[in-house]
Amino acid sequence: MKFLKVTTSKGLQIPAVAMKLSGFEPECNVEFHASEDMLVVLRHRMTAMELLRAAKSLQKLAADLHVHLARVCGPCDGCDGECPFEGGDEVDLPDHLREEAGIPEKAKLWASVDEEEHTVTICEADYDHDLRDVPEEVLEMFREAGICVGELEERLILGDVVYGN
Ligand SMILES: [Zn+2]
Repeated sequence: MKFLKVTTSKGLQIPAVAMKLSGFEPECNVEFHASEDMLVVLRHRMTAMELLRAAKSLQKLAADLHVHLARVCGPCDGCDGECPFEGGDEVDLPDHLREEAGIPEKAKLWASVDEEEHTVTICEADYDHDLRDVPEEVLEMFREAGICVGELEERLILGDVVYGN
């Protein structure tokens, strides 16, 4: 069950009904697990069964999120023959050249080829994420399900909202 709330500078109040649905009694000691883009509340003490149910709930949420993203991307209808995309080649640049060009260490690099001039230009990509940031197992799952990986890359590059509105 999902509840919409807005965080404040003081934190976040969790609705009593949400606590009840999750089986958290009043005066229950809880722990917050803060990780990238997610915050999870668990009982501080759990029985084996409670732990198993909590783990299962986390797995289900992860699966639901992947399914949501897969639906956003939709099935591949060809991608001009380019789908499934490969993960994209890693572009490497020696540190001294990168520094001289003023490209930050963590920046994504992008290479363009001029076939007539026989040159390769390496520059800082003007986006933060692409298929190289997608865990291999997720990419594999999307490919096997016939989800458009080209569309996924588009979403990553654009960085637009794909969940919620
Ligand atoms: Zn496609």
